Amino acid sequence: MLAQMQPTFILPAWPVVGHEWAVALLARSAATEQVRHAYLFTGPAQVGKTTLARAFAQTLNCQASSEKRPCGLCDSCQRMARDAHPDARLIEPQGKSGRELLIDQVRGIIHEAALSPLLGRRKVFIVREVDRGNAPAMNALLKTLEEPPPSVVLLLTSSYPERLLPTIVSRCQVLSLRPVAVHQIEEMLRAHGAAEERAQLLARLANGRPGWALTALTDESVWQSRQEWLDNLNHLLGQGRNERLAYAERMAARAQEAPEMLALWASWWRDLLLWQQGCPEVVTHIDRRETLASQASRLSPDQVRRFLMALGSASRYLEQNVNPRLVCESLLLHLPRWEAQPA
Ligand SMILES: [Zn+2]
Repeated sequence: MLAQMQPTFILPAWPVVGHEWAVALLARSAATEQVRHAYLFTGPAQVGKTTLARAFAQTLNCQASSEKRPCGLCDSCQRMARDAHPDARLIEPQGKSGRELLIDQVRGIIHEAALSPLLGRRKVFIVREVDRGNAPAMNALLKTLEEPPPSVVLLLTSSYPERLLPTIVSRCQVLSLRPVAVHQIEEMLRAHGAAEERAQLLARLANGRPGWALTALTDESVWQSRQEWLDNLNHLLGQGRNERLAYAERMAARAQEAPEMLALWASWWRDLLLWQQGCPEVVTHIDRRETLASQASRLSPDQVRRFLMALGSASRYLEQNVNPRLVCESLLLHLPRWEAQPA
């Protein structure tokens, strides 16, 4: 009875797939003007951290009445969607390799943060992959977090929050985003015009990441990589030491793609395990059921489990910056090898 008497908070429609609890929390804090100075969005790559941060940034400066924010239609929302709002900045790692957040970028934030908002109510900075900041950049950022100018909101994102200084994390409200449900990603893909079968498959392959699913729908190269990586794995099962070492060398040369490839292979080997356990209806790779059935019958459950563990270790080693070539070599030497085909 008591619960019924409390005013209900109607969840606004944000352009975000899943993460309802986070949308509710942020929308409520914006509506009640209890906005913190810094938020940290964590979770796997492409799960929706930047999308959520952007929707929050729009909400904070949207010109519509508070229950309609972000409206997506007003001048402020539209400028933000084009990254052309004078009070909002999206900062991405640059550096020599395009993978480092630099002190000059943080100095830029500090300089701009000291100015009053030009059009909106707040100045918002979205800093992507903040864990890639080098030490001087992180120390400068910490100073800003310690003494933030009044109308400034910092929205940081990170797939590896454990790499951040604890003093940075403790200054932020942390929102840990979890993988999004398959049916929600499926729905999103259908809304983007995906045919039924493709929506089902991509939603499963996405592993809870709507951003990945959308990229895979529109970018043919993502799809081709998946086909190539699975075909290679299939081929390597029948190959000896020399071919495997040669492949490991090629893999290591494309070290940036290696984590995605290992995640894909792990999803394949989880499917093999599910197949062996008699659960073919819940596999991810629904378009390759015949290959799954054939491999599941030729490998023992013990072989599958051991290689899954090897894949898990390889992913962790790459995260810890162990030499990619060593990691790939060791992994491929752990890959089971087909027994000779029965005559
Ligand atoms: Zn608006």
